[in-house]
Amino acid sequence: MLVTMRQVLDEAAKGGYGVGAFNVNNMEQIQAIMEAARETKSPVIVQASRGARSYSQDNFLYHLMLAATELYPEIPTVLHLDHGNSPETCKSAIEMGFTSVMMDGSLMPDGKTPSSFEYNVKVTREVVELAHARGVTVEGEIGCLGGIEDGHGAGLDGLSHLTDPAQAEEFVKATGLDALAIAIGTSHGAYKFTKKPTGETLKMDRLIEIHKRLPETHLVMHGSSSVPKDLQDIINQYGGKLKPTWGVPVEEIQLGIKNGVRKINVDTDNRLAITGAIRKVFMEKPEEFDPRSYLKPAREAMKKVVVQRMQQFGQAGHAGDYQPISLAEMAKRYATVPVSA
Ligand SMILES: [Zn+2]
Repeated sequence: MLVTMRQVLDEAAKGGYGVGAFNVNNMEQIQAIMEAARETKSPVIVQASRGARSYSQDNFLYHLMLAATELYPEIPTVLHLDHGNSPETCKSAIEMGFTSVMMDGSLMPDGKTPSSFEYNVKVTREVVELAHARGVTVEGEIGCLGGIEDGHGAGLDGLSHLTDPAQAEEFVKATGLDALAIAIGTSHGAYKFTKKPTGETLKMDRLIEIHKRLPETHLVMHGSSSVPKDLQDIINQYGGKLKPTWGVPVEEIQLGIKNGVRKINVDTDNRLAITGAIRKVFMEKPEEFDPRSYLKPAREAMKKVVVQRMQQFGQAGHAGDYQPISLAEMAKRYATVPVSA
């Protein structure tokens, strides 16, 4: 069933758990996520970046996502736009039927240049007004993440533009958004850290302070793949050439969940699982030429990762907790609490 992200995150806050947001580009990835959700009885956020939308041509991807909500009616499913670069991009997703959008105004529309606070407030607020009128959820971002994903990101090292807690508070008050992505040292892509992160690598104290100032705002961790060594090893064992790298330890994410993190973005881990499984078939069965012979194990490998994350984030077992609130009803609720400022 199709639900808004606001409802899923409100429920997660009540239950004290986090919800994984997994990126999709094609059918196999969507199937892997939905099968994992069914197996673990998890609500789920399926998200598409601008890169995914252009790779798959909007309509193919949207209809695959819609098929997921039809085939898995028992799973509360959010269709979310990841890193919208402009109000127009968000608008096109809303018009297509997404139940949640991210307006990333921390960067200019080129998706690379860090923007000003004023610009960020202006575009985010514009999207909040547009989206809330239709009951659609809005995620914003303050501070810049490291790395570049799907052409989006400032390419920083992850530590140069951390979120300022006071500014985060001001931003939420000025925009009225539902969920806030913060920069605490994570970055997009596989190469997050060059050595095993210690307790100091991620600025968890900052996250905790932001949560204290904004106890009602759902916090979002981007770039939160764990980049497990076993997945890297499979790729390299079957002819890949990944350089040694470290991701965000699951324990740090769990500490975040205890402190207001409700949405956790995971993409790289799934990419690693898929690529490893395909490489293995190519090396072990070079006579195979039916794409299903490697896409099936790829889908299975991704499902395994997603199942693990759903259990680790705590969303497992919560799919049946609630009935969906319609977009129209959500719009009515937003209308009664106008954005201040
Ligand atoms: Zn991101």
